[in-house]
Amino acid sequence: MPKDKGFVVRHERGRTYPAMVCETCGEIITDYRMAGVVWNRDYKDGERSKVTVLCKTNGCLTKEPYAHFPWQEMRHFALWLLYNSGVKTEAELVKDWKEGDWMADI
Ligand SMILES: [Zn+2]
Repeated sequence: MPKDKGFVVRHERGRTYPAMVCETCGEIITDYRMAGVVWNRDYKDGERSKVTVLCKTNGCLTKEPYAHFPWQEMRHFALWLLYNSGVKTEAELVKDWKEGDWMADI
């Protein structure tokens, strides 16, 4: 079975957690400042585009065929995703972060 890449759920040592894996080199991304996403540059209004998760560590974000695609750093993409999913203010983000304290225990 091929190893899944992009946004995945990992299972290790009895733990399950979301993670990102570079879709070019397969590196597990543990620092969201060292990753980005690219999407189709030929999209039209009303269409959707799959995002491709790429690492900066091995330069995959700046290599062809993705070098000239629209992109965003993962830290900004994650916040943009939250914003478009209903987290509109810093207060909401902080509230949700605190309610997510359970994450430290899994
Ligand atoms: Zn990579």
